[in-house]
Amino acid sequence: MNDRLRLDRPGDLYATTAAAAVPSRPLAGDRRVEVAIVGGGYTGLSTALHLAERGKEVALVEAGELGWGAAGRNGGQVNAGLKHEPDEVERALGPVHGPRLVQLSGGAPDYLFSLIERYRIDCEAQRGGTLRAAYRHGGRRALETHVRQWRERGVEIELLDAAGVAAATGTTRYVAATRDPRGGALNPLSFARGLAAAALARGAVLHGDTRATRLERDGGGWRVITAGGALRANTLVLATDGYSDHLWPRLAQSFIPVYSSIVATEPLPEAIAHTILPAGEVLYESGNVTVYYRRDRANRLLMGGRGRQHEPSGPQDFRHLIRYAEELWPAIAGQRWTHGWNGQFALTPDFYPRLHAPAPNVLVALGYSGRGVALATTMGAELAAAATGTPLAELALPVMPIKPIPFHRFWRIGVAARIAFGRLQDSLGS
Ligand SMILES: Cc1cc2nc3c(=O)[nH]c(=O)nc-3n(C[C@H](O)[C@H](O)[C@H](O)COP(=O)(O)OP(=O)(O)OC[C@H]3O[C@@H](n4cnc5c(N)ncnc54)[C@H](O)[C@@H]3O)c2cc1C
Repeated sequence: MNDRLRLDRPGDLYATTAAAAVPSRPLAGDRRVEVAIVGGGYTGLSTALHLAERGKEVALVEAGELGWGAAGRNGGQVNAGLKHEPDEVERALGPVHGPRLVQLSGGAPDYLFSLIERYRIDCEAQRGGTLRAAYRHGGRRALETHVRQWRERGVEIELLDAAGVAAATGTTRYVAATRDPRGGALNPLSFARGLAAAALARGAVLHGDTRATRLERDGGGWRVITAGGALRANTLVLATDGYSDHLWPRLAQSFIPVYSSIVATEPLPEAIAHTILPAGEVLYESGNVTVYYRRDRANRLLMGGRGRQHEPSGPQDFRHLIRYAEELWPAIAGQRWTHGWNGQFALTPDFYPRLHAPAPNVLVALGYSGRGVALATTMGAELAAAATGTPLAELALPVMPIKPIPFHRFWRIGVAARIAFGRLQDSLGS
């Protein structure tokens, strides 16, 4: 095998670069609280923090360490909005929820960065903006629509032509790009741990290494059963996104748990580093198969995209991303790629996130469809409001029934076929 494709330390980069984990013990014995949360990613931790801020007794259980799921291993891109453009969101969700969701998703980076500032979360946060780049002429029209619709809503998004995007990225691959000042970057595991530390400091109780194995009704409330004890609570919040299991009937069948892969270089020499995204934006491509990348604080290049739909089996799983990076910037060809990892997120069939209230005093939020860094954090504030009496009808997302996807068990084949089809379409320029 080519030497450059050998990962020195296969595994998650953030395990070595993130801020220290907060202490947390598995649940032992029974505990009574007002709100119990299952899942210690951004949705769960942000909900815990916002509930603790409101003086509520809240406890959270997380099967792995806090931030173990997508929260601790994502691309670290803080992006505004949804996959759909604002006009489409307003059409699809109607005059009440449409504008609310546009506002919530558009304002999510602001919300996240202000939370980081408020709690002084040390997570390499930087606000260099987001580039959304098109490499086909057809893609330019979509970018123009994007710019027009957000400008109508007061957001100064810039449209870069081919020369502009070449200067911004260091590659001539793209025909156009938008630059959205709302976006930025962070170390995702540090951010998850920072949320956990802030929640703990406000009085939330967080149990890592504690898998919820069963849920039971308990009078008007709920019992969350784990191997070492149980949480009893008036309200239950499920925040398990792409890692949802059998805990709530049919929930895991209501989305596709897509794997996304990331590969990282060693810190690049200054001379090469500053030819890649010199102004420090994050970038995602607007093709059929999303590729996303950024430079981190140490000048590593983090290159992400769709990959094998299973746990990594070796460096070969990441070869396509490395090859693509070397096509974009031939100068990095001699650099070493030291880390490669993947994780799962919940992709919904229509790319809209979901808010469910499937039984009295149960709330579920998931399905950020690859855009959860800012959005899941913001949803935590919404869930906390709902758990403390804000009527569900006042939230940004409409409450929807849990709808299983037909033929869900063929999803792996479906996703693999979709990726292959997307690559084919991209290569044909359609
Ligand atoms: C590789 C990758 C790259 C990504 N890049 C980006 C990006 O750059 N920008 C962006 O905006 N989004 C990105 N995303 C998506 C983003 O990370 C997710 O949308 C976000 O983390 C969702 O947060 P969450 O808290 O809802 O879920 P998660 O962070 O996945 O947390 C769910 C948690 O629930 C726990 N859990 C599940 N079942 C149980 C149980 N029974 N008991 C106890 N705990 C349980 C899991 O262990 C897990 O830790 C990426 C995702 C991946 C996988």
